[in-house]
Amino acid sequence: MTAPRRAMLRALSQAGVPLSVQQIHEEANRILNPENGVGEEELDLVTAYRFANLLAEKNLAQRIEFNEGYFRYEIAESSERPHHHHLVCRSCGKIEDFQDCGLTHLTTRLEKESGFKVAEHKLEVFGTCPQCQITSR
Ligand SMILES: [Zn+2]
Ligand SMILES: [Zn+2]
Repeated sequence: MTAPRRAMLRALSQAGVPLSVQQIHEEANRILNPENGVGEEELDLVTAYRFANLLAEKNLAQRIEFNEGYFRYEIAESSERPHHHHLVCRSCGKIEDFQDCGLTHLTTRLEKESGFKVAEHKLEVFGTCPQCQITSR
């Protein structure tokens, strides 16, 4: 794996929230060119988009949609990063994880009732964070 790709993976796994390709691109270049900004390798945006796509296809990353008109990416679920969803503040854009979505009950029921084998589910929750509720009062 090339250094730019390694840097992208690192940027993704260090991020606490799903990142846009723009953000992954910026963060990966910071990793590649620390401090002085003079590094040997530079990651271009087209490569970043291509690699993000590839990661999603190989299930190493998940594509996430916050109705922003572009995808965000997050490192795939693992024991370190267990199954979770996101709470998104519509006012300031803050993103928080939440676990225990309770949807396993639903998917088990659906499998029984429909005969479908459920592969995944998507759920993002939008609203106003406590801070923004205070400031908008
Ligand atoms: Zn907010
Ligand atoms: Zn869930």
